[in-house]
Amino acid sequence: MTPHTPRRRSAIVTGAARGIGAAVARRLAQDGLPVGVVDVREVDCAATVEAIRAAGARALAVEADVAHEAAVADAVARVAAELGPPTVLVNNAGIARAASLVDTTTEEWDRVLAVDLRGAFLAARATAPHMLDAGWGRIVTVSSVSAHGDPGRVSYASAKAGLHGLAYTLALELGPHGVTSNAIAPGFIATAMTAATARRLGRDVAEHERLAAAAIPVRRIGRPEDVAHAAAFLASAEAGFVNGQVLHVAGGPVG
Ligand code: NAP
Repeated sequence: MTPHTPRRRSAIVTGAARGIGAAVARRLAQDGLPVGVVDVREVDCAATVEAIRAAGARALAVEADVAHEAAVADAVARVAAELGPPTVLVNNAGIARAASLVDTTTEEWDRVLAVDLRGAFLAARATAPHMLDAGWGRIVTVSSVSAHGDPGRVSYASAKAGLHGLAYTLALELGPHGVTSNAIAPGFIATAMTAATARRLGRDVAEHERLAAAAIPVRRIGRPEDVAHAAAFLASAEAGFVNGQVLHVAGGPVG
């Protein structure tokens, strides 16, 4: 028997203009969900939205900085009105700042925590009422292997560890109402974020990726689609008994 899913439903993917978020948005659309493609600038969402529409599915570009409460509330309301109640949320938007404890400014700390942790909280809080109404929902939060500690990225690692607490707590609070909450902790996934790290280390991107692959048990780096496959499973009806987990998508064991 196919597990029940609501008839009217949509997905919201934050930070979906590029990288992992874009791959997740395309994949959820393939699986039959209209997708709200949320990112800081609406114009940057165009490529993801066009790819989804070209594949015959529905998508909407929605501009929102996930750190801003009103912008997130507006974005969720727009998706609900234009695509249907959001019953899937993928908290993917994130930024990283490279700095050790003593070099991290308070402003950097606040901005990273605001986007990576507060953003996920705001999006979950704004979306949950739709899921509770439907008696069904899936919250998938993209954290990072950095949550286990990442010297030189203290704000990022702290925000990502906080997301695990958020994911566990939402699993406990919302589980009784048919809403699951899980996190995906990716390892090295080739995106603009990893290219920026290569540049910061003064390395050629290809060389950076080769070195990373050599240290990963499956001997390759990850692709955005690797995370999208995992997100699609956690967002599916079939994943209803998977709740409050952190799934490492890292080519090997972590932690
Ligand atoms: P990316 O290529 O930098 O893409 C992130 C997207 O999020 C960009 O479109 C970015 O917009 C958007 N964004 C940034 N701040 C935002 C905000 N305040 N509100 C809404 N959107 C915002 O990064 P990625 O590598 O795909 O990473 C996606 C997620 O995976 C992040 O949470 C990241 O921490 C996590 N992750 C990535 C890796 C990896 O190896 N790549 C590993 C572990 C975890 P702009 O381009 O305008 O900034």
